[in-house]
Amino acid sequence: MRLMRLVDSHCHVNADRFAGEEAAVLERARAAGVERIVVPGWNLASSERALELARRFAWLDASVGVHPHDAAKVDAAGWQAIVGMARDPRVVAIGETGLDYDRVFSPIPEQMANLRRNLELALETGKPAILHVRSKAGESGAQDAIVAELEAAGYGAQRAAAAFGADRPPAVIHSFSGSVEYARRVLGLGLAVSISGLAFRAGEESTAEVAALVPADRLLVETDSPFLSPPGAPRGRNEPEWVRITADWVAGLRAEEGGAGLTLVEAYDRVFSRTDQVDRRTDQADADLFPHPATGAG
Ligand SMILES: [Zn+2]
Repeated sequence: MRLMRLVDSHCHVNADRFAGEEAAVLERARAAGVERIVVPGWNLASSERALELARRFAWLDASVGVHPHDAAKVDAAGWQAIVGMARDPRVVAIGETGLDYDRVFSPIPEQMANLRRNLELALETGKPAILHVRSKAGESGAQDAIVAELEAAGYGAQRAAAAFGADRPPAVIHSFSGSVEYARRVLGLGLAVSISGLAFRAGEESTAEVAALVPADRLLVETDSPFLSPPGAPRGRNEPEWVRITADWVAGLRAEEGGAGLTLVEAYDRVFSRTDQVDRRTDQADADLFPHPATGAG
């Protein structure tokens, strides 16, 4: 069997659950064929941690921003620190941010204000926003609101084209959840879509159809580790290596539909463009993961 080249567009290896075990988790991911990982922050501390990890493991990319759950908890000073980090070349995206009308851990007005500052930072930096968008089962309030907010901020229009270039996605819908109609709307705005283990849960059936219709150059997969384990991965502790379960499922669906296959690494590199950097994913990455005694420090 040929190993698919894999990416994990959303992996919280910066979570407490992985503290001290990052190297082992990443080594297992590499062995499973994972070549790229974005480590997204959700508040100030986790954004700092994401950037630290991208410095320590040269093949990782970081994203900094504020999650809707933390919208009311990151003050102006915290936000300014995130804005400062956003300029680092190892930071390839802004977020995760978005709207969560399901659990509503921060009041909706605060979520909205937070979403707007993150969308603005994405436009200012030319780094795509990573969007968490969830509504209660059977509802679509968050999805409808995110489309309206994107349009109001200039996504899908001249402003985003100027910031990102005409055919680079200005945002990623992370862990897709919603209707086929909603998927068509965000694709119409030029966004990329990332599929996670959430797709296998009851109520998320439309994601199978969405996974088959997204153009290959805008389709990503992710684990959202340590959350959202797909069937077959340990429950309660998802790891980046299990992205292959979701990728295999998506590839199978696309083959059934006779559509284009997956080109995950190419799509990732287009979305999380990093032209201002030398390629850090070659020898240095292997040196970090598989240190050779003869070349070690001392
Ligand atoms: Zn996440």
